Amino acid sequence: MRRKVVAGNWKMNNDINATVDLISALKAGLKSSEPKSDVIICPPFTSLETAKELVKNSNIKLGAQNMHFEENGAFTGEISAAMLRSTGCEYVILGHSERRTIFQESDELINKKIKKALSSGLKPIFCIGETLEERESSITFDVITRQIQKGLEGISSLESIIIAYEPVWAIGTGKTASPAQAEEVHSFIRNLLTKMYGEKEAQSVIIQYGGSVKADNASELLNMPNIDGALVGGACLKADSFLAIINY
Ligand code: PEP
Repeated sequence: MRRKVVAGNWKMNNDINATVDLISALKAGLKSSEPKSDVIICPPFTSLETAKELVKNSNIKLGAQNMHFEENGAFTGEISAAMLRSTGCEYVILGHSERRTIFQESDELINKKIKKALSSGLKPIFCIGETLEERESSITFDVITRQIQKGLEGISSLESIIIAYEPVWAIGTGKTASPAQAEEVHSFIRNLLTKMYGEKEAQSVIIQYGGSVKADNASELLNMPNIDGALVGGACLKADSFLAIINY
């Protein structure tokens, strides 16, 4: 039985004061009972140190939203895996569609980042997903196959990896994939991973859905057999809606 994992991608939101307020409200909401899902929050880099202190002794885990694949050096504006580890991060989102489209990140670059994250003890939340144009051209499965094969090239185990299927047309648009549409792709992904890594690893890997997950659609999505949680953008910025998704 895979446990559900819900992660919040804060994106470029929340200064230090807002970080303190949001994490305090989340902790208060999670205190009363054992949450139904495992919880990860991914604040911006500037909030990680504050978040690290606030999530101590709670069941909230910490992740970052990006990192560079080099160890250190002349890479102005970049953050390394070791820096993330030193701020208490256990996870890092890699390959988010906003990184792929706005910052031109390629499958090859994402592969380098995943390898560096793993060798540094970070668990990647590896995002994949098709654009609207690709879906309408009926190449969703080809795109997913390419992103997975190239993104995971040379990686021998899925043990420390979370996959997040995020159809680009559903991110921040209010349009959600229907549970059946999402399940179809999740099941395709698990079959592909079975061919690449064998039954045992593919059955254990967490495959999150992301794309306009809200309190009122979380339960129908998370109850699908191959949807093991959610990567949440907009709805993770308010404690009430994020808590409702966690306890879907
Ligand atoms: C995301 O950015 O990963 C995301 C899923 O955003 P939203 O929930 O706002 O669609």
